[in-house]
Amino acid sequence: MKSLKKEYAEKGIWLCESEAPTPGHNDILVKIRKTAICGTDMHIFNWDEWAQNTIPVPMIIGHEFVGEVVELGQEVKGYRIGDRVSGEGHITCGHCRNCRAGRRHLCRNSTGVGVNRDGAFAEYLSIPAFNAFKIPDDVSDDIAAIFDPFGNAVHTTLSFDLVGEDVLITGAGPIGIMAVAVAKHAGARHVVITDVNPYRLALAKQMGATSAVNVRENCLTEVMAALGMSEGFDIGLEMSGVPSALQDMLDKMNHGGKIAMLGIPPNDVTIDWTKVIFKGLTIKGIYGREMFETWYKMVSLIQSGLDLSAIITHQFSIDEFQKGFDTMGSGKSGKVLLNWTN
Ligand code: NAD
Ligand code: ZN
Repeated sequence: MKSLKKEYAEKGIWLCESEAPTPGHNDILVKIRKTAICGTDMHIFNWDEWAQNTIPVPMIIGHEFVGEVVELGQEVKGYRIGDRVSGEGHITCGHCRNCRAGRRHLCRNSTGVGVNRDGAFAEYLSIPAFNAFKIPDDVSDDIAAIFDPFGNAVHTTLSFDLVGEDVLITGAGPIGIMAVAVAKHAGARHVVITDVNPYRLALAKQMGATSAVNVRENCLTEVMAALGMSEGFDIGLEMSGVPSALQDMLDKMNHGGKIAMLGIPPNDVTIDWTKVIFKGLTIKGIYGREMFETWYKMVSLIQSGLDLSAIITHQFSIDEFQKGFDTMGSGKSGKVLLNWTN
């Protein structure tokens, strides 16, 4: 089968011929239709320090996918050949306290599809049936292919009650932009998003942001004044991983505000803790998606009219994978899909 592999411990990704995986007793074999390129895949492509310390070589990369079940391990129940599925890329141990309590997203032993073991950028993927998620007929392949990052957006955005609240999102990457759409759909009042990338800010505006602010050119305080916000944001969603964005967010939160942090900052970020303390802020770290509560909510949001289609800005056939990675690396894209069947 065709596969996109980290073949060598250097910058790049290679289209290779590999053996199709054989599903174990509890696994399903998925024939991949579409995959999407994640920031993680870009780290692996660029072979940065995190990738060098984390990724085994050679390994098939990728974890955002939609496909069709073509084989079932002998113990698998609840799936049929032909079912359309996406799936959770975090494989959990099932034995730790959180797993046993049903809080799988907090498993302390989780491993990553396309990070610690062969991934989805291939014609076939074998994953535990537990990790698969059936896609209803009224959700398109394109949207199902981005359920993994959409799930990051949903998990973060719905962490706190935001109905009628003013929301600040820092970072208009694909996840931040999807968070705009989710927050508006769920009933937030003003949703203000910041970035330094004009292409992405325009996309965030198109997806429903009240205001999309380039923090290199405009002052957030003035934007808040123009919206009649005299006190500050009720909810903050940190989706950039950039220290100055978090510091700015702490400054702009109202007293009693709540912050969900998805963005992964570099080590040793300094913040003004007195803002956290004297404002009585709550800060919650977010990892992955809730298994599988977030997945059910994603389907319900789409079925209740949430339109994410604008976030998918580019599609390439797998033979043009390099164009896909170049486009993602250019910063002038939303989600980039790779098609495996044409
Ligand atoms: P991304 O890198 O595409 O988006 C980050 C955005 O932040 C970019 O558009 C960048 O221009 C913007 N930015 C840069 N400087 C800024 C500033 N000063 N103020 C505001 N924005 C600024 O990433 P993504 O794929 O959308 O993911 C968002 C973040 O979430 C990343 O940090 C990613 O590593 C992290 N992430 C975390 C999890 C998790 O489970 N916790 C999962 C997926 C992604
Ligand atoms: Zn566990």
